[in-house]
Amino acid sequence: MSDMTLSLDVSRLGFGEQKAQEQERNLVIIGAGPAGLTAGLYAGRAQLEPLLLVGQAFGGQAATTSEMENYPGFPEGIGGMALAEQMSNQATRFGAEIMYEEVVSVDLKQYPFVVRTYGPVFRAKSLIICTGTSSRKLGVAGEERYIGRGVSFCATCDGFFYKDKTVVVVGGGDSAIDEGLYLTRFAREVIVVHRRDALRANALLQKRAFAEPKMRFVWNSVVTEIVGDDNVTGVRVRDVNTGEETVIDADGVFEYVGLVPNTKLFEGQLELNEQGYIATDRRQRTSMPGVYAAGDVQDPWYRQVVVAAGAGAAAAIEAERWLAEKAFEEAEQAQQAG
Ligand code: NAP
Repeated sequence: MSDMTLSLDVSRLGFGEQKAQEQERNLVIIGAGPAGLTAGLYAGRAQLEPLLLVGQAFGGQAATTSEMENYPGFPEGIGGMALAEQMSNQATRFGAEIMYEEVVSVDLKQYPFVVRTYGPVFRAKSLIICTGTSSRKLGVAGEERYIGRGVSFCATCDGFFYKDKTVVVVGGGDSAIDEGLYLTRFAREVIVVHRRDALRANALLQKRAFAEPKMRFVWNSVVTEIVGDDNVTGVRVRDVNTGEETVIDADGVFEYVGLVPNTKLFEGQLELNEQGYIATDRRQRTSMPGVYAAGDVQDPWYRQVVVAAGAGAAAAIEAERWLAEKAFEEAEQAQQAG
């Protein structure tokens, strides 16, 4: 890098204009998975001109699902990303605005609430949090080193690279089995490593998995290390009953060991439940009036697209009512004062 690059005059980069970018909004929706997009649709139709802030994950976890067979209205199934795109088109058609800005902080002590991104700052009269969940990592040796070089959390994104190769899938839940089955389209062999001797996945997925000749199961085993050279070459597993360690040769490892809620922005500001999810009541209300949460970030129980979409709709209806009541009260107070 030359010295010229380093001697840039930062005063000319426009930081002084940041203040001018502050915008007041009726409703800001953080996150654009099924919950956020549906909230956007309902709030748009309620004439709230909602703003949807999308970080890096348009469509949320659902968009990484290869084929969704249980979203009503699509008897032949629909891809997760295709569904997200349709939801997005529907929301914008009714006036929702989508901005690709990552939220870096939220201040709920001020009102209107302050939502900061790397770009504009928003002052929101109400908020719907739909930040979803992220994949849980195994936390074993070699994992960080090989992310993107054989370690993956998304079969839909990376499955294609494993044509005629051997892959390990870690976990025994719906995601592991669903995505493992998807990987059999490409891979020569899909080896499921699970820590128990029974799957958590639903009965239909289990039936399909046990009937799939390309799928093999390694029971009662935990991954202790991802091994490789430049890329992954296998996983070291330990039998939880015998303690014996072996290495399973594989070209890729897909981790599906559960999810963690994306709540960092709200720690210390909103009540979280014992599992770390945002606590809401049956009307999607959080511990802060005017702030709602919908979708996986407040749902450790169902985590279904249809449930998230329903919660997003409910949150938008609640936000609209709350804003209308607040406006009415303020108008009444102004009248009394005047
Ligand atoms: P999940 O249901 O929490 O399953 C996680 C799996 O990983 C479990 O089998 C668990 O083992 C295992 N696990 C957890 N921590 C581990 C560790 N440190 N080492 C090894 N194994 C570990 O997560 P999910 O499969 O991602 O599903 C999340 C939610 O989405 C669920 O509610 C699911 O129903 C839903 N989902 C539904 C569909 C569908 O309807 N087709 C598809 C995908 C996801 P144990 O079984 O021993 O606990």
